[in-house]
Amino acid sequence: MNPIADNLRYILDQIAAAAQRVGRQPDEVKLVAVSKTVDLERMRRAIAAGVKILGENYLQEAQTKIAALGQVVSWHFIGNLQTNKAAGAVAGFDLIHSVDRLKLAQALEKAAQKLGKIQEILIEVNLAGEASKSGVAPEDAAALIEAIAALPHLRLRGLMTMPPWFNEPEAVRPYFKQLRELKDRLSRSFPEIQLSELSMGMSGDFEAAIEEGATLVRIGTAIFGARPGA
Ligand SMILES: *Cc1c(COP(=O)(O)O)cnc(C)c1O
Repeated sequence: MNPIADNLRYILDQIAAAAQRVGRQPDEVKLVAVSKTVDLERMRRAIAAGVKILGENYLQEAQTKIAALGQVVSWHFIGNLQTNKAAGAVAGFDLIHSVDRLKLAQALEKAAQKLGKIQEILIEVNLAGEASKSGVAPEDAAALIEAIAALPHLRLRGLMTMPPWFNEPEAVRPYFKQLRELKDRLSRSFPEIQLSELSMGMSGDFEAAIEEGATLVRIGTAIFGARPGA
């Protein structure tokens, strides 16, 4: 028995079903398996079972894991990023989901230039204005995009959000809808930038997120089990 493989198969089925309910193709939605605090052995099992993208929150932890497992998957950074850790993030990750301020974008630009890399990023949006969460306010997103557009080594691919926590997925749905509507508005304002990705939805609410347009769902617990201390 391999619970990770079973969980993964179940989640991929749920992802496909949610996409099909709203007339989307299942392959429009990519699974980011969130492996913060998960040990290498269980990560190897997830990769063997078919996980293609791993999401990590803490740079130091992630760097150890990337060194051990290598580029057999695509690595996404989904946690809060301090400006002084920008270089490490650029060196290790294909997509950084959590860019929420110009200072950080500028640090990433500098690091990407040094490495000769074009760094793909998402802008994290704080839809509910929660003080405890990072993310740019929706009304400030356009200004941030405009500033990022001038940074040649960053490629903005879309938006990410961490909505307020509810134990009822339907209560979160309006936030997913808001992020999609914000992306649509910003796409009209910035036709030269391809805002194609919407990173939203976690273990408890990814189906609603997919029904509202998610292209990247970030799922940890439902694949790896509860995290210690969670
Ligand atoms: C931990 C985390 C997730 C995954 O949460 P689960 O509820 O375990 O699926 C998703 N996104 C971010 C930003 C996280 O920190």
